[in-house]
Amino acid sequence: MNKRDYYDVLGVSRNADISEIKKAYRKLALKYHPDKNPDNTEAEEKFKEAAEAYEVLSNEEKRSRYDRFGHDGVRGAAGNGFSGGGMSMDDIFSHFGDIFGGHFGFGGSGFGGGRQRVNRGSNLRVRVKLNLEEVTHGVEKKIKIRKYIPCDECNGTGAEKGSRPTTCPTCHGSGHVMRVTSTFLGQMQTSSTCPQCDGEGTIITNKCKVCHGDGIVKSEEVITMKIPAGVSNGMQLSMSGKGNAAARGGVPGDLIIFIEEEPDPELKRDGSNLLYDLYISFPDAALGTSVEVPTVEGKVKVKIPSGTQGGKVLRLKGKGVPDINGYGKGDLLINVNIWTPRNLSSEEKHALEKLSESQNFKPNPTSQDRSYFDRMREFFS
Ligand SMILES: [Zn+2]
Ligand SMILES: [Zn+2]
Repeated sequence: MNKRDYYDVLGVSRNADISEIKKAYRKLALKYHPDKNPDNTEAEEKFKEAAEAYEVLSNEEKRSRYDRFGHDGVRGAAGNGFSGGGMSMDDIFSHFGDIFGGHFGFGGSGFGGGRQRVNRGSNLRVRVKLNLEEVTHGVEKKIKIRKYIPCDECNGTGAEKGSRPTTCPTCHGSGHVMRVTSTFLGQMQTSSTCPQCDGEGTIITNKCKVCHGDGIVKSEEVITMKIPAGVSNGMQLSMSGKGNAAARGGVPGDLIIFIEEEPDPELKRDGSNLLYDLYISFPDAALGTSVEVPTVEGKVKVKIPSGTQGGKVLRLKGKGVPDINGYGKGDLLINVNIWTPRNLSSEEKHALEKLSESQNFKPNPTSQDRSYFDRMREFFS
């Protein structure tokens, strides 16, 4: 099905400001409001269409994405309630407070259709420390977490064993009460959350002794989390439904995992590359040598050719950290430093003084010996 252009839906120009957009939506929302058009599916579709257009065009970020990419730019975007096609009535009513200044008083509980409030458990946050090896290969961590779980005694209902929650006598289970109020448009039927059951539709007369009617208790759970290779410091991973259980059988929250990288004593991380500072002696640089360099997989031998200059960078391809999205692996970059002795015996001094007279010891950089500054300029360009 082809979606209509959001600007057309609201009947505003592409450079309409927020107040014009609000005004246009308000007009449409009142015209097609389900309470004014009972059992009219066409009106309901129009109502939803307008709400979706408003949701996007009233949000600066979503609007600019829509302007650039059209409907594809805002489809399934996190948390906008579009996934699965269209918005739910709850989504729509959730921004009514914003546009109507609370006049409608729906309180997110929907309208006339027997919709009860669903409890939602809170999210939990844990910090996970990873060393370089774990970051490079990915790791499975088992962590003990204190959290709310459904009460065993009452099966999460909150009602004492042998009893059940009963239908709320005030709202007859719908979770909301209807009220006729006068608005600037005339009489309007509005709905608000039932004060007796707080929107749940049921009440508990005999509360469970263990959880005192909440349906949840504090407990400990061991959670196994799979951390993919390539994560980095400050990243957040989320495990859906692994947070706190919700009161009386609602939807559990999520577990949010904060990644903390332990710095490695030898290898510094730079994106997906690893950096290593190697120090070799001046004679080794002049004569050539073979050195051991640490990698995540253990030490490897690296050949240093004779005549190596300080500041040379050697690259071990693929010895870095994998990209989190699977786009290959970084490299291990070895920065060669040449160690200049700080103390010399008179014998050493004498030998060096003799050597320094040789023409071969006079610095004579060629275009191949690019300076530090050249390399930095290249790096930052
Ligand atoms: Zn209980
Ligand atoms: Zn009630």
